Amino acid sequence: MTRTPLIAGNWKMNTTIDEAISLIKTMQPQLHKIQGVEKVLCPPFVSLMVARGITKGSSVKLGAQNVFYEEKGAFTGEISPLMLAGLCEYVIVGHSERRQYFGETNEVIDKKIKAAIKAGLKPIFCVGETLEENEAGQTREVLGRQLIDSSDRFYFLSGCVIAYEPIWAIGTGRSASGDDASRTIGFIRQFVSRQHGSGIANSVRILYGGSVNAANIAEFMRKPDIDGALVGGASLKADEFVSIVKQASDIKGV
Ligand code: PEP
Repeated sequence: MTRTPLIAGNWKMNTTIDEAISLIKTMQPQLHKIQGVEKVLCPPFVSLMVARGITKGSSVKLGAQNVFYEEKGAFTGEISPLMLAGLCEYVIVGHSERRQYFGETNEVIDKKIKAAIKAGLKPIFCVGETLEENEAGQTREVLGRQLIDSSDRFYFLSGCVIAYEPIWAIGTGRSASGDDASRTIGFIRQFVSRQHGSGIANSVRILYGGSVNAANIAEFMRKPDIDGALVGGASLKADEFVSIVKQASDIKGV
């Protein structure tokens, strides 16, 4: 089963609109030329519109960093899936920073994924354990709960991607080893297979995220079960992000 690798850059709450324009204009021509890998930039909401203009007609795709689950109404400050449809193709859902700072539960995340898919968006569904859970040997139990509560056969048939992001590795400079990430992603694939069947498990893309950079991306991409990366800090540096995508293409481009 061939799975097209995907590298997504999560800019988080960084860049003004002018900074976003400059960053996309620097990266876009170089990213466009790299084939065999899906390249997704996830700038802040306010820059999505201008990013769409710059990337139009290129192979660079866009994603949002969050979405609400209602289509419209009295939800001040929220962005609905209908507002994002047509603006971007992907949306990150369940990022650990959303779970940690904004109290998003597995139940809320499930509603968001369902609403995003209904609007034609492809969710990048983040799962991961805390350091305490990891050290207590609870990683598989935590991931299993996240997957049971917020995943459905229909999601994966609709292009939902899973991102395994151990929380202790995000923004800390301390990535998981390639072996550890591969073992855990292998577990996630087996879990999805038990839940939804081997056809879905073999076709769903599972990314690793957590302090990925140009120096360690190759270690992850060489693992058969790892289909790409969700990149935070390093996606804000044009040269570094281009190098990550280039290496992913060289190792596993289709
Ligand atoms: C992320 O934001 O999803 C992430 C993995 O961040 P970083 O690469 O900075 O650890």
